[in-house]
Amino acid sequence: MVSETTSGAMMTSCTPVTILCCVCGVPIAPNAANTCASCLASSVDITRGISTEATLHQCRDCKRWHRGAGKWMGCELESKELMSLCLSFVSGLRNGKSGEKAPRLVDASWIWTEPHSMRLKIRLTVQKEVQHGTVLQQSFMVEYIVRNQQCVDCQAEFRQGGWKSLVQVRQRVSHKRTFLYLEQLILKHGAHRGCLSIEAFRDGMDFYFPDKGKAARFICFLENVVPIKVCFLVYSTSSSSSSCCC
Ligand SMILES: [Zn+2]
Ligand SMILES: [Zn+2]
Repeated sequence: MVSETTSGAMMTSCTPVTILCCVCGVPIAPNAANTCASCLASSVDITRGISTEATLHQCRDCKRWHRGAGKWMGCELESKELMSLCLSFVSGLRNGKSGEKAPRLVDASWIWTEPHSMRLKIRLTVQKEVQHGTVLQQSFMVEYIVRNQQCVDCQAEFRQGGWKSLVQVRQRVSHKRTFLYLEQLILKHGAHRGCLSIEAFRDGMDFYFPDKGKAARFICFLENVVPIKVCFLVYSTSSSSSSCCC
C-alpha cells in the first residue's frame, strides 16, 4: 500500500499537468490566461500604440532629409541612416512614461517602392512578453509619405540667385559672327559645364557660375579660342559697390 502511494506520487511528478486551451481546446501547460500561444497571439495585439504612418520631408533641390529642429541630413534610399531616421518617426517603440513597457524591436527591413511614388515602406518585427514566459512576435508595415520642402541652405542660395561669379562677354560690332563661332566652340568643348544659366543680349552673353574657379576656367577657355581683353570686377554685398581691378 505504501509502495503504491509512493509510485502514484512519482507518476504525478513525471507526467506534466495539462489543461485544455479555453478557446481552441488543445492541451497546453497551464498559464495565467489558460490560453494557448496561438490563441493568445490572435487575441492580443502587441503592436497597439505603434504608429504605422508618418511623413518625411525631403529638400527638392539637394535631396537631403529633414531630421527635425531645422537639421537636414543627406543619405541614400534604403540606407542604414535613412532607416534610423524613419525609425525615429515611429511612435510607441519607446517605453511609456507610466512605466509601460514598449515591445522590443527585433528586425527592420525595407519594402521596395517605386522611386517616384513619394512613398517609403519598412517592415518592423517586434516582440513582447504577454504572459509569464510567453513571448509574442508580430510583424507590420510602416508607410512614409515623402513631402517636398526646400531646406534653409537651398532657400538662402535661391535668394542669392545661386551664382557667385558672372562672366559677361561683349563685342560691340554689328554682326553676330564671333558669337556664333564662340557658341559652336563652347558646345564642342563643353566649356559651359558648371554654368548655372546663360543669358543672351544684343551685343553679347552672360554666363553665371556657382564659384570663382569655374568662372576662371571658362575665361581661360575664352582666352585660348578668341582674342579678348579681360576686366575683373569685384562686387561686395556688404558695401554694395563694385570695383574694377584692371
Ligand atoms: Zn488555443
Ligand atoms: Zn536643400
